[in-house]
Amino acid sequence: VSNNDSEAQKAGGDASSEDGPDHFSPAEVSLLQKIIRKGLVESKCDIEIQRQDPNSPLYSVKTFEALHLKPNLLKGVYEMGFNAPSKIQETALPTLLADPPQNLIAQSQSGTGKTAAFVLAMLSRVDPTKHYPQVLCLSPTYELAIQTGEVAAHMAKFCPEIELKYAVRGEEMPRGTKITEHIIIGTPGKVLDWGIKFRTFDLSKITVFVLDEADVMIATQGHQDQCIRIHKCLDRKCQMMFFSATYDQDVIEFAEVIVSNPLIIRLKREEESLDNIQQYYVKCANKQEKYDAVTNIYGTVGVGQAIIFCHTRRAANWLAEKMTKDGHAVAVLTGDLTVEQRIAVLDRFRNGQEKVLITTNVLSRGIDVEQVTIVVNYDLPVDINGKPDCETYLHRIGRTGRFGKRGIAINLIDSSEAMLICQSIEKHFNRKIKYLNAEDSDEIE
Ligand code: ADP
Repeated sequence: VSNNDSEAQKAGGDASSEDGPDHFSPAEVSLLQKIIRKGLVESKCDIEIQRQDPNSPLYSVKTFEALHLKPNLLKGVYEMGFNAPSKIQETALPTLLADPPQNLIAQSQSGTGKTAAFVLAMLSRVDPTKHYPQVLCLSPTYELAIQTGEVAAHMAKFCPEIELKYAVRGEEMPRGTKITEHIIIGTPGKVLDWGIKFRTFDLSKITVFVLDEADVMIATQGHQDQCIRIHKCLDRKCQMMFFSATYDQDVIEFAEVIVSNPLIIRLKREEESLDNIQQYYVKCANKQEKYDAVTNIYGTVGVGQAIIFCHTRRAANWLAEKMTKDGHAVAVLTGDLTVEQRIAVLDRFRNGQEKVLITTNVLSRGIDVEQVTIVVNYDLPVDINGKPDCETYLHRIGRTGRFGKRGIAINLIDSSEAMLICQSIEKHFNRKIKYLNAEDSDEIE
């Protein structure tokens, strides 16, 4: 059995060259979204519910107290700063904690509270007096497993009796030893090794099985088969919890193999819109003028933060280097950073240590961060044929509007081709992109 945790990691790095469009794998994107987001993504959409028996009662809670958690667990939830369940948690939590246990499939975009929901369920299902693994959570990569484990450790702050073991690359079990921790969080390869090949724990004693980021799991070579092999060794009565940010046909088919008789809850992604965004374009004759426009904008960022999108890694790195040399504190995020470096960059940006983040398309989704007020298209988004990429434009600039806050988008136009692209984007969305004199950024409303 091979342990291909790092498969996804390599994919991003190798697939894109310095001068081409930058690319991250689904697992990498998912991790970055987790890191950059400070709190919940709220949604105005209604939750959709499907279940086998439409007459069976369906519970929903508005408070964490209503869940009758162990007091120390409730304390942990409040310690995390959670006041009330998120929209998805209102329905997911009563099902996850129900007696007798019920299977659940939940789909909602990243940031809506899925992880917190299943971590809470995992912790409350554990019997700490029994010293063997009872809960198993599969994540697509090393980093995503660690993220989940950190949420669990945080929430279990007042439950020191609950123990957690990571089944990820780098963790070793001496031959013949058994795992005594209550919860295992790991990647499919390592869990397969430990559970089936070396029998360091008994898969048939697992009472809660969580499959997280199912869509990312499918996108990672070999993971789906490994998950299914693990699943085959579980007890029929084991509670199944299946989570995904998307719910395409391949995810649905995967879910059907893993979860029988589930409650299915789905929360539609709220569409981004340009409604609250002031859009501008700035004419630049050459690279120097483009650079001057960026530094002018930098001077006006004020209390907010800005993200600057470049088409290639080379352009992003060049711009970052030049701005840094000129004494501006900027961060840069491209596909040539290691995972640790990316996490560090996004952590700093999220905490406001740098006001400007220069990046490529790798971050076009998931930048709906409250404090980002200005988005600059250093290069307009184009597809591989050089045609305007309106979808990416919307992802870069658009907001879901929940903050009611206004944003500013500035497009730098350095050629007649770029002007044409800008015009066709304007036409596509039927939203005015106004001319802005770069020397006079006071014009920004
Ligand atoms: P997902 O797994 O869907 O991506 P998470 O569970 O990671 O979502 O939650 C996204 C963010 O919202 C995290 O920072 C998490 O700490 C926070 N969060 C989750 N549930 C709540 C809640 N009920 N109240 C406030 N914040 C929450």
